[in-house]
Amino acid sequence: MANRRRFLQALSTLPLFTKIGPAASNSVQAYAKRDYFAELGIRPFINAAGTFTVMTASLMPAEVMAAMEKVSRQFVPLPKLQDTVGAKIASMIGAEAAMVTSGAAGALCCGTAACITGTDQKAILQIPDLTGLKNEVIVQKNHRYGYDHAVRACGVRMIEVETAGELERARTDRTAMMLFANFLEPEGAIKAGEFVKLGKKLGVPTFIDCAADVTPYGRLQQFAKSGFDLVAVSGGKAICGPQSAGILFGRKDLIEAAKLNTSPYSDSIARGMKVNKEELIGMMVALELFLKRDWDADWKEYQMRAKLIADSVSSLSGITTEVEVPEIANHVPHLHLRWDESRIRISPPDAKKALLAGDPSIEVNPASNRNELVIGVWMLQPGEAQIVAKRLREVLRANA
Ligand SMILES: *Cc1c(COP(=O)(O)O)cnc(C)c1O
Repeated sequence: MANRRRFLQALSTLPLFTKIGPAASNSVQAYAKRDYFAELGIRPFINAAGTFTVMTASLMPAEVMAAMEKVSRQFVPLPKLQDTVGAKIASMIGAEAAMVTSGAAGALCCGTAACITGTDQKAILQIPDLTGLKNEVIVQKNHRYGYDHAVRACGVRMIEVETAGELERARTDRTAMMLFANFLEPEGAIKAGEFVKLGKKLGVPTFIDCAADVTPYGRLQQFAKSGFDLVAVSGGKAICGPQSAGILFGRKDLIEAAKLNTSPYSDSIARGMKVNKEELIGMMVALELFLKRDWDADWKEYQMRAKLIADSVSSLSGITTEVEVPEIANHVPHLHLRWDESRIRISPPDAKKALLAGDPSIEVNPASNRNELVIGVWMLQPGEAQIVAKRLREVLRANA
């Protein structure tokens, strides 16, 4: 009490005490004006690559930022907000239940934990020690990938199979879950539909990672109806929500269990994969905006950007351009440029370096290699396709 009185006395003697309002708003303006990247010596670039985490992936629309800023000013009960936002997201995409996670990787971890523990409090406290618990995840050999680390973080062993017969024989009373990486579907013998059927027949929850598979629009709703028990998507790729957010949706009992395995519960496997009210509301608003987008209009715009860039170099002799669309994952037009290096004397990797070093700096798609330069056009902002076109022409012409 004495301390508190002294504190208040000290405050009232501060000359600024009565001016906190206006002083604060001047200060906010000053902070809004600062050029943080310049101060830190970080050079921003034009994203002619795509939604890559290492490049900060996508930009949140102003509406999402406004919503996040708005909710940042009040305190609310976090579990109740997660439940309510989750229910809203579920109804938006036609899923039974949903929750906001820390990205698709966070969703993989929370969902796997849910399949192991259910709502058993003792099991939730125990993992990743799986003594006496289900401790195996069945996966096709060709569906192993880096992000399954988020699954393995729960302590499970990955049981690799190649055929439906092998999968059936691999099922034991230790099987917690079956994992399917959607972008690897062409690589595996068992396709998504059959995988779901096998899961139901064997009584094992099926989990699909569709992190980057939300185009063409309507895919989210399709995945909600696909029969998979759990689905993971990135919030900060094509959906343009917070880069630190994702969505886990599917069976209600599993979503309930997944929520118990993460923040705010301090003694849980995914406590470090925290999301707060800003990510929750940001994700919800980004999804609202995403579901209103017009695929035909966006498709036309991406094709136009690709054509504009292709046209800018088409007069150079020895160059060929082609628009390619990946079948699954990042299903949007990408411009591929190949040229005869005896006529344009710069290699694609050197052209990539020159674009990055130039002004403005431009990052092209990391799929670019020794033989071709790949340009992703969907994260370009208004006016940037023209800049990419001009810079590309300059770089190639300088060596023609
Ligand atoms: C990007 C990606 C992830 C990780 O998503 P985050 O939202 O960054 O956590 C997981 N799986 C696949 C297939 C991805 O493409």
